[in-house]
Amino acid sequence: MADGIRIPDEIRPVDGRFGSGPSKVRPEGVDALSAVSRTYMGTSHRQRTVKDQVARLRRSLAEFFAVPDGYEVVLSNGGTSAFWDAAAFGLIRDKAQFAEFGEFGAKFAKAATDAPFLADPTVHRAPGGQAAHLRAEPGVDVYASVQNETSTGVSVPVRRVAGADEGALLLTDATSGGGSLDVDLRETDVYYLAPQKALGSDGGIWLALMSPAAIERAFEIKGGGRYIPQFLDLVTAIEQSRLDQTYNTPALATVFLAAEQLEWMNAQGGLGWATKRCAESAAAIYGWADRSAYATPFVVDPGLRSNAVATIDFAAGVDAAAVAKVLRANGIVDTEPYRKLGRNQLRVALYPTVDPSDVEALTACIDYVVPRL
Ligand SMILES: *Cc1c(COP(=O)(O)O)cnc(C)c1O
Repeated sequence: MADGIRIPDEIRPVDGRFGSGPSKVRPEGVDALSAVSRTYMGTSHRQRTVKDQVARLRRSLAEFFAVPDGYEVVLSNGGTSAFWDAAAFGLIRDKAQFAEFGEFGAKFAKAATDAPFLADPTVHRAPGGQAAHLRAEPGVDVYASVQNETSTGVSVPVRRVAGADEGALLLTDATSGGGSLDVDLRETDVYYLAPQKALGSDGGIWLALMSPAAIERAFEIKGGGRYIPQFLDLVTAIEQSRLDQTYNTPALATVFLAAEQLEWMNAQGGLGWATKRCAESAAAIYGWADRSAYATPFVVDPGLRSNAVATIDFAAGVDAAAVAKVLRANGIVDTEPYRKLGRNQLRVALYPTVDPSDVEALTACIDYVVPRL
């Protein structure tokens, strides 16, 4: 019985968490949280104790991404999904253009398409495993792309759209790419993410690195009198963030774990260190798949293969779901593919928290399981 396969301890990864989100949280972070369980957890978010952690989070994020002069770190509640709605209300003046090549890009495009106060957006689509690209179009005031499409394991560089209208903004969904992949923030106006992916914290808030032009746009649209729900008001989020607060109660553990994790990554060498570590993990898993008789990288173009999330297709004779099930029974979890992609595939997060040697170990475990199925 497949369920009875026991992977030998010697070849198992030290940490069996390979989920793309929520992703592995370092035990050291949880220990640090535990140490403040009586002085920080369960205390008012309007007092210095919590505001200091929000400040630490904003400061360490700015340091990690080397934010250019004038960019601000803004945060609020609701995760990246809430940010999409906030951006539809507060950043798109009239018409947006989207590069859509997976589920997450599609969700933001839908938010803009459904907004009755916006023109129909232009959406460039590509099937799963490929990339769609933005291109200059008169009248477009917001361009939007995902840096790493978590649902498919495709990543693209963050680059301004050549020939775009003067003042057009670029919004980059870096929810899973941010921290795993290289970026020069001068190439985008809003680089937004959530802490439960590459940042190795927990969910519930969104974080956005916003350029002066993006901040100005938020104030311009709000000043223009558009109805904006309070909870999704970017100007409120900007003003509250400047005070190291959020509009409503944030998840205190999430804030603390994110700050802790960013300080750890900064101490290791910052974004350069993190991207190198992810590249090592990527080399381990794609290299293995290239050599394997039954596994192949899903993303055919090596230039699009993500160093943040790897998707590996299995030959018809090998049931990936059964492999994932055996791995799970052995404490190696969340290697299942994105549900809607519907492929015979495993998906593996390569975020900076994940040790490249654990990715190596995972491939050895798969090689142990497959012939025994
Ligand atoms: C996970 C993810 C989201 C959604 O984030 P939530 O915080 O759950 O709303 C959006 N975009 C990308 C690229 C993601 O990976």
